[in-house]
Amino acid sequence: MENSSATRPLRQKVIGILGGMSNQATGEYYRMLNERLNGALGGWDNGEIVIVSVNFGNIEYFVRRNLWDDARAYLAEKVDRLERAGADVIGCVSNTMHRVVGPIMAGRATPFIHIADPTAEAIRKVGIRRVGLLGTLPVMESEELRLRFQERFGIEILAPSDAEKKVVDRIIFDELVRRDLRAESRAEYLRVVAALQAEGAQGVVLGCTEIFLLIRQSDLPGFPVFDTTALHVEALASFALS
Ligand code: GLU
Repeated sequence: MENSSATRPLRQKVIGILGGMSNQATGEYYRMLNERLNGALGGWDNGEIVIVSVNFGNIEYFVRRNLWDDARAYLAEKVDRLERAGADVIGCVSNTMHRVVGPIMAGRATPFIHIADPTAEAIRKVGIRRVGLLGTLPVMESEELRLRFQERFGIEILAPSDAEKKVVDRIIFDELVRRDLRAESRAEYLRVVAALQAEGAQGVVLGCTEIFLLIRQSDLPGFPVFDTTALHVEALASFALS
């Protein structure tokens, strides 16, 4: 991409973010995208970004009652808005809502970067085949996600036990989406990761875009951590720079 004052305004791709799920994750996407693009473009340049930020109260209502058709109708209209606003590529900040955003995007011309794909590519790059998965209940129980990792990338997903899934899910909804970060919840998550490791996981996917606020690679020395937020941001930024 040309980055010279002679070509101003700089022609660049517009990144469309389907956000608000949560607002904490969305703020991080915005910050990280601009940081990455400024790093690549230099000077005062950063991203051209359109964000449609939804009401998380609606998302919480749909997810916890399994109202996937309602969620799909709600988010399809938001994707229309991103397209009308000129998004050249769309990313959804919620792993959970990919269940409906994937199908919404299937029939559209605007490129869509599914959050699982850059994650799976990163796992494959380090050469491991079996990873633990943390996320909301629907993510940890998603057959579709399990098959996507398995069939497209040859990666096996290990989910926590049913009791641990409930703990992981509760902490996301009650704490992380509000950026309420507690030492005891960090310890719970690290315990769940240790159990996954004991079962044969060779790394762990932070399959919820707020989890990196609580645990990071530095909390798990020597055990690869795949943060969907950072990997998704990188894929969106690379697309914008291509
Ligand atoms: N940010 C979330 C995720 O990545 C959880 C919130 C939601 O249910 O959308 O799944």
